[in-house]
Amino acid sequence: MTTNHPGTGTGEAIGDASSSTSLSLASVLAEPARRTPEALAVLEGRERVSYGELWEQVRGHAAALRGLGVATGDRVALVAPNVADFVRAYYAVQTLGAVVVPVPVLLVPEEAAHLVSDSGAKVILGHTSQLELARGCAERTGASLVTLGSRGSERSDDDPPSLTELAEDVEPVSHFVTRGPQDPAVIFYTSGTTGKPKGAILTHLNMVMNATVNAFDANDTSSSDWVLGCLPLFHVFGQTVSMNTTFRAGATLVLQPRFDPLQALELIREHGITHFNGVPTMYTRMLEVAPPEMRLPSLRLCISGGAALPVSVLERFNERFETQILEGYGLSETSPTATVNQPSIGTRAGTVGHPLWGIDVEIADPDSERIELLPRGSRGEVVVRGHNVFAGYLGNPEATRAALVDGWFRTGDIGVRDEDGFLSIVDRKKELIIRNGYNVYPREVEELLLEHPELAQVAVVGLPDSTRGEEICAVAVHATLSAGDTDQSVSDRVVEWAANRLAAHKYPRRVVFTDELPLGPSHKVLKRELRERIIREEQQA
Ligand code: AMP
Repeated sequence: MTTNHPGTGTGEAIGDASSSTSLSLASVLAEPARRTPEALAVLEGRERVSYGELWEQVRGHAAALRGLGVATGDRVALVAPNVADFVRAYYAVQTLGAVVVPVPVLLVPEEAAHLVSDSGAKVILGHTSQLELARGCAERTGASLVTLGSRGSERSDDDPPSLTELAEDVEPVSHFVTRGPQDPAVIFYTSGTTGKPKGAILTHLNMVMNATVNAFDANDTSSSDWVLGCLPLFHVFGQTVSMNTTFRAGATLVLQPRFDPLQALELIREHGITHFNGVPTMYTRMLEVAPPEMRLPSLRLCISGGAALPVSVLERFNERFETQILEGYGLSETSPTATVNQPSIGTRAGTVGHPLWGIDVEIADPDSERIELLPRGSRGEVVVRGHNVFAGYLGNPEATRAALVDGWFRTGDIGVRDEDGFLSIVDRKKELIIRNGYNVYPREVEELLLEHPELAQVAVVGLPDSTRGEEICAVAVHATLSAGDTDQSVSDRVVEWAANRLAAHKYPRRVVFTDELPLGPSHKVLKRELRERIIREEQQA
């Protein structure tokens, strides 16, 4: 095996780089491996991996992947929780100049198969803890399954190949394949009003710049910092703001495979974590379970994003742990960070701060087809322009045209910038429910529920929930109501049926029945009215 040969900056130019300038996401790991090979990169349970070791492992994994036929530009699905193997596989794919398609481990096989087939991934890298999902996905799509992680002692001849084992027997590749700034690096699946999730193509420029600006401007991360990686790495928030930002700064990433609030607090205390990134419900849950005597003196900076953070939670958390939560805002399509509260510019609780360096954020007329920017202080659609804006939706020019207009990305969020430039998100133009920090697009749930024979019409709304932010509720009209059945018994049946077909964060926890759904002039269900009616009825009950 060759050792200690990170090969940064000398990548061979292979493939379809669309520009003569190179910019590769692989360099985010290769560079600290060259500069500080001894520094600790990843800690997961008892496993501690230095930058030098990690980069060598990544190059070994890349060689094994190449041996399996993966080439520059190919898409590779990655099904893994927050473990060191996620990091090795992710950067191995990047080292070959291939494209990662992260598959949320919360999905059921049917949902995950859509991501694999739509992206055209021919290989699925499935962590051994996620074999059922990865296998189900491979069976439905015909993609080949390759496992990650230890397989244990029970083996059979028809076990899929293990990348982890193959990587031990090959000569690591010596270079990462150089990519151009506009080449795709990652495809994140995000839903929308069209129902099925669409693949947002994030380029090397998007991913490298967002990690860089987060590390050095917004999050003020340096090589001596320790970052807790408890946000899922398959989601853009965890992937960029926790993983790539940490490596860009040469800092240490402590992985928590699955978020548990008490364990997260203990990891912060035990390892002297300086940076925590989370969605609002994580902060609420940590406040709920923190032992009274617990102090976290190392915790210097926390980022909240993904959903609105109640000011009361921010204040209580800051006071309880003597720290500073900075709220930010973004989307999968913006890599994700578009704005964040930045101490160097000024912070204001209840707002999502200022645009990151090199990014323009404005307010536009939400009803105009073209982008008509509105004056400061106006309420309107948040539009974003800059190095963080994605390249388009894979194979979906219509959705791309609707999202990227006149050089701006239309976010579908409604916001206001105040006289000092702080942005507040006040509403959403798009239909979106955020449950526990995870996005749920009602249309996808409605399409599934309409397949249930007992429902004639369905509208899915988010109801306020003190723990999860919002809870999914389906409002439906009966197709038939058999003798002996009640609203409750049908609701129970539908919920159980949906739970088997949708990821846990997406299925409705109850179905409320009504005689008819309120319709607007264009026969669209008046969701806002419906939601307010259900909330009112519940308060009266
Ligand atoms: P995703 O594409 O999964 O990252 O979700 C992006 C969506 O999350 C945005 O369009 C917003 O609706 C919502 N979001 C993200 N950050 C915030 C925030 N700080 N406040 C309110 N909504 C947010």
